[in-house]
Amino acid sequence: MRVVQIPTLFDNYTYLLICEKTGQTAIVDSPDAEATLAVIRREGVDPVAIFSTHHHMDHVGGNEELIAFKKMPVYGGLNDRQRIPCLTHPVEEGDQISLGSLIFRVMDIPGHTRGHIAYVGEGAVFCGDTLFAGGCGRLFEGSAEQMVFSLGKLKNLPNPTAVYCGHEYTQKNLEFALTLEPDNQSLQTKYAEVVDLRKKSKPTVPTTIGEEKSYNPFLRTESPELITNLKKKIPGLKDDRLSVFVAVRKMKDGF
Ligand SMILES: [Zn+2]
Repeated sequence: MRVVQIPTLFDNYTYLLICEKTGQTAIVDSPDAEATLAVIRREGVDPVAIFSTHHHMDHVGGNEELIAFKKMPVYGGLNDRQRIPCLTHPVEEGDQISLGSLIFRVMDIPGHTRGHIAYVGEGAVFCGDTLFAGGCGRLFEGSAEQMVFSLGKLKNLPNPTAVYCGHEYTQKNLEFALTLEPDNQSLQTKYAEVVDLRKKSKPTVPTTIGEEKSYNPFLRTESPELITNLKKKIPGLKDDRLSVFVAVRKMKDGF
């Protein structure tokens, strides 16, 4: 698999997943069909499917125009089926999708929206607005319990799995993370790298599951340093994973 990353709108990412044997290509989350088609032409690849992660327009706004350009199946979560434009293939946990010689598995990861899904395969996960580099998505429709469960599933993927998320939010996310774990060495190192990349206008995505586990506060709800610092701000906070997650999410919403 070759992945082409397309920065779009203000801070979104569209991805082209290309089967190098056949040139068959899936488009993950395109809000801007023109920008996506320009890259498809430049790469000389054959778009054969759209993989939508969730129904928000900054992820699916380009579906209609892409379908007008070329008719192709549109995949998306079963629970988002009424809200993803041009959806033809509602999918859910465990479903498999082939793309040339590549195979992707669907993972249900509700929380940000109730029908949010990830596409997992070829050593990578395309997780939309659920897990971000250094952060996680806001809870627009789902519950904190759902989000904790979804993040737990992502966290269980092998450490080298490349994490392709829907937005370039990393620097701000890590600035927030540093308020909770200022002494976390891998967080400090990552932050310095990210500041450097952003100065050069380079993407900080993808990261890996292993990296995220080392600095992402939403995957570190058991970290003693994080819990200690959180309790200084919220005396009496319970330290079970859900309570810690809820507290961290609430603080990030106001950061
Ligand atoms: Zn979203």
